[in-house]
Amino acid sequence: MRKPYDVLIIGAGPAGLSLARSLADLPINVAVVERSSEETLATPPEDGREIALTHQSVEIMKACGAWQRLPVEDVSPIESAKVFDGSSSYSLDFDNQTQDLEALGYLVPNHQIRKAYYEELCAHPHVEVITETVVEEVQTNDNAGYITLNNGEVSEAKLIVAADTRFSEMRRKMGLSATMKDFSRSAIVCRMEHQESHQQTAFECFHYGRTTAILPMNGNRSSIVVTVNSRDAQKFSEMSEAEFNRNIEDQLDGLLGEMKLLGKRHIYPLVAVHANQFVSKRFALVGDAAVGMHPVTAHGFNLGLKGQATLSKEIANAIAEGEDIASEALLKAYETELMRTTRVLYHGTNVVVGLFTNETLAAKLVRKATLRLANNIAPVKQLITQSLTEKDPDKSTPLQELKNHLPPLPSALPVDRLKQQVESILPEKLKPMKLFGLK
Ligand SMILES: Cc1cc2nc3c(=O)[nH]c(=O)nc-3n(C[C@H](O)[C@H](O)[C@H](O)COP(=O)(O)OP(=O)(O)OC[C@H]3O[C@@H](n4cnc5c(N)ncnc54)[C@H](O)[C@@H]3O)c2cc1C
Repeated sequence: MRKPYDVLIIGAGPAGLSLARSLADLPINVAVVERSSEETLATPPEDGREIALTHQSVEIMKACGAWQRLPVEDVSPIESAKVFDGSSSYSLDFDNQTQDLEALGYLVPNHQIRKAYYEELCAHPHVEVITETVVEEVQTNDNAGYITLNNGEVSEAKLIVAADTRFSEMRRKMGLSATMKDFSRSAIVCRMEHQESHQQTAFECFHYGRTTAILPMNGNRSSIVVTVNSRDAQKFSEMSEAEFNRNIEDQLDGLLGEMKLLGKRHIYPLVAVHANQFVSKRFALVGDAAVGMHPVTAHGFNLGLKGQATLSKEIANAIAEGEDIASEALLKAYETELMRTTRVLYHGTNVVVGLFTNETLAAKLVRKATLRLANNIAPVKQLITQSLTEKDPDKSTPLQELKNHLPPLPSALPVDRLKQQVESILPEKLKPMKLFGLK
C-alpha cells in the first residue's frame, strides 16, 4: 500500500486537474489518478470542444496561473451573441455594451485548458499525478477512504474526490443516484474557416430539426456545433468535406460566406446529468461527475471550476482552523453551495433545450414570444446576460435573488416542484418568464 494521502482525486480531466492545482498551495499530500498516459496529459489531442468561459472562470484560472499559460492566439473574445429561431431573421441580441464589458466571455480550446492545468501541476511537483492507472473500486468509512487500482494496489486518503466524467463509475459505486436526461441528439463539432468576418459574434440558430451554433475564434475561423437527432449524426461526420461545407453554408444562409472545414469532426451524444447528492462519507463529486450540462448554455466546465473552487476553499479554511478536511459539515457546506447554483441552471437549461427542440405549433409560438420578450424586457435580458457572463457574481441580480430564495436542498427536487417553487418566487415584473417554458 502507498503512503496515505490527504486528498485523492480520481480523473485528470479539466475538473480534476483544476482541483489538484487549487490544493497544490496547501500543506497537504494530494494525488490524481488518471487512466490516460503522461504524454496525453502533457499534449492533449484537440477534441473539438471550444469552451466559452465566463469572467468568473477567467478570474479563477488567472488566480492560479493557468490562464497565463494559454497561447494568446487561442483565446478569442466573444463580444456579442445572437439567437435566431426557425427561419425568421429576428434575433435575440446580447452585447458587451449592455454591461460595459470588454467581452461577454472568452472561447478557449478544451485541450489548451487541460494542457495549461497540467503544466501548472508540473510546476508543483509535490502533487503526484499517477497516469495509465484506472481506479476500480472505492470505499470510505468514518476515518478514511480507500481506492483500489487496476494494478491491485490500494491507496488511502482522508478525502476521495471523483472527477471521472458525467458517467462517473465512482458515483455509482458510492451509491449516489443521479438524474439523467438523454436528449437522443448528438453534437457534431468542428472548426471551420470562412470568407466573411464573424465580428466576434456567437450565433445560436435554432432551426427546425437541427441547431447550428457558431462560436467565434480569432481570425475568420469559428467553432461550429451542429446538433441533430442522434440517428443522423454519423451521416454528418461521414459526408465528404465539400458536401459538409455546402451543408453548413446553406444552413447559415450565406451569413459567413464560403465555409471550409478545418481538421476533424467530433461527435458528442448529448446526455445531461445532475447527481442528487454531491457528497458522501469522506467522498465528494466535482466537475461533470457532479453536474454534466447540455452544452447549449456553455455552463459545464464553468460550473466545474466553481465547484472545485468552493471545495478547495472549504478545505483551506479547515486546515487554517486545524479541523478535519473531510468532515461531514465541510462536505455538506460544499454540497449546499454548489447545489444552490446548479439546480436552477441544470433544470433551466433543460427547459430551454426542450422548448427549442419542440416543433409543435404552440412551442414554435412560445419560442418566438420568448425571444421577443427577452429582447424587450430589460430585467430579463440583464438576468440572462449576467448568468452567461458571470461578471460581478456577488452583485445581487434577479437570478441571485431567485437562487437566494431557494431552500438549501441536499437532494434533488422533482422537476415539477422546482418549477412551482421558481414561479412562486418570481418577482411580478418577471412573470412573463413563464413563457420560457417554466410552466
Ligand atoms: C460539445 C461540447 C461543448 C462544450 N462547451 C462548453 C462550454 O462552452 N463551456 C463550458 O463551460 N463547458 C462546455 N462543455 C463541457 C465541458 O467540456 C465539461 O464540463 C468538462 O470537460 C468536464 O470535465 P471533467 O474533468 O469533469 O470530465 P472529463 O473531461 O470527462 O474528464 C474525466 C477524466 O477522468 C478520467 N477517468 C474516468 N474514470 C476513471 C477511472 N476510473 N480511473 C482513472 N481515471 C478515470 C478520464 O480518463 C478523464 O480524463 C462542453 C462539452 C461538450 C461535449
